[in-house]
Amino acid sequence: MRGSVALAVLCVAGAASADPARPATAIEGRVMDTSARWTSDGSRIVTEATVRTADGSLVTVSQLGGTAGGFTMRQFPAPERLAAGMQVALAVREAADLDGRMHRAVEGVRVLAYPEGFVRTGPTKAGNFLSWPTGCAFLTPDASGTSQIAGDGEFEIIDAALAEWNTKTAGCSYLELRLDARRDHEVGRDNLNMIKFREVTWCRPPIKDDPMRCYADAAAGITTAVYVDDKNSARDGEIVDADIELNGVNFAISKDGVSLGSGIKADLANTLTHELGHFMGLEHTCLAPRDPPRIDGDGNPVPACGVADPKITEATMFPFQDEGETKKATVEADDVAGVCAIYPIAKDPGTCASAGSDTGCCSASNGSTGAVAVYAGLGLVALGALRRKPRVRR
Ligand SMILES: [Zn+2]
Repeated sequence: MRGSVALAVLCVAGAASADPARPATAIEGRVMDTSARWTSDGSRIVTEATVRTADGSLVTVSQLGGTAGGFTMRQFPAPERLAAGMQVALAVREAADLDGRMHRAVEGVRVLAYPEGFVRTGPTKAGNFLSWPTGCAFLTPDASGTSQIAGDGEFEIIDAALAEWNTKTAGCSYLELRLDARRDHEVGRDNLNMIKFREVTWCRPPIKDDPMRCYADAAAGITTAVYVDDKNSARDGEIVDADIELNGVNFAISKDGVSLGSGIKADLANTLTHELGHFMGLEHTCLAPRDPPRIDGDGNPVPACGVADPKITEATMFPFQDEGETKKATVEADDVAGVCAIYPIAKDPGTCASAGSDTGCCSASNGSTGAVAVYAGLGLVALGALRRKPRVRR
């Protein structure tokens, strides 16, 4: 008997019933703010949220759990935690406490839209998110280009992808992506940020003391960043090198639907524009299967990619693409918001480090100790790759 009760609770996924005699009512609107408190007996935390409904009225609801006084109380399972900026549909039941005061207790939460879709890359062990240190970041195209796009078409696409980010973010971000001259050069931490095409193996080649390192076949592109990960450094979170590699082994790299390669087409503009988002410090807008849990810039958990919020699924930083897809070549409002959160014009450092220098704006003034300490805490991370969309059942 006890077992069957537990099973029933599992199946309703946290929809506890406060007072089944009173029907639950539906409230839809935007969460304006939240505040959490311990109850007077210190036994539980409740979060009160103000929700503005479509007619402009403000409704206060309360949810069991939250963060107060240095503690967080959570239930497993439980409805999603309300956070400012969320658009939600709530199931709410009015119930009295023992003093006779009425509360609107939240029993069910359906998130219609998250406050922001974008997610920044990080944090470092000290809690900082990644960014370039000066007002510009340089990229060097692989001089060999790709044999899968006719003529110099791939270089036109590279120009256009940088221009797309620069133009769309110019109104609120100070960061400018710039291109250096093409070079025949390998990826690696050398302060040269390569855009490298791979057509023989989808791998980083072997070096003297490390073998070939191959990537997931399903990844159309991958970005690798090296950044300072040192809580004792003022440069913690600073990107010192980032390389983009494009998969012409498992995909036919295409332009305008045409590729000289064979196989599944991956539109270069689509893939590269996404990878440039990683290059600047953006993570995927949602968690793919097997991704570790992440938090966004507001400290809210990043949702799984199954969400139906177009802010997340239509963003350039959504982690999957369909064959021949081109929509990620245009940067969306949420992607712009992400870059502008990292590089807001109000914080423009007014400097531009030239390519080939990893010292950025500040290390010269940090003196000699800075130069020695710089590499001690470098972190290496392969940022999320843009993958082919899994076959979806329709
Ligand atoms: Zn990605």
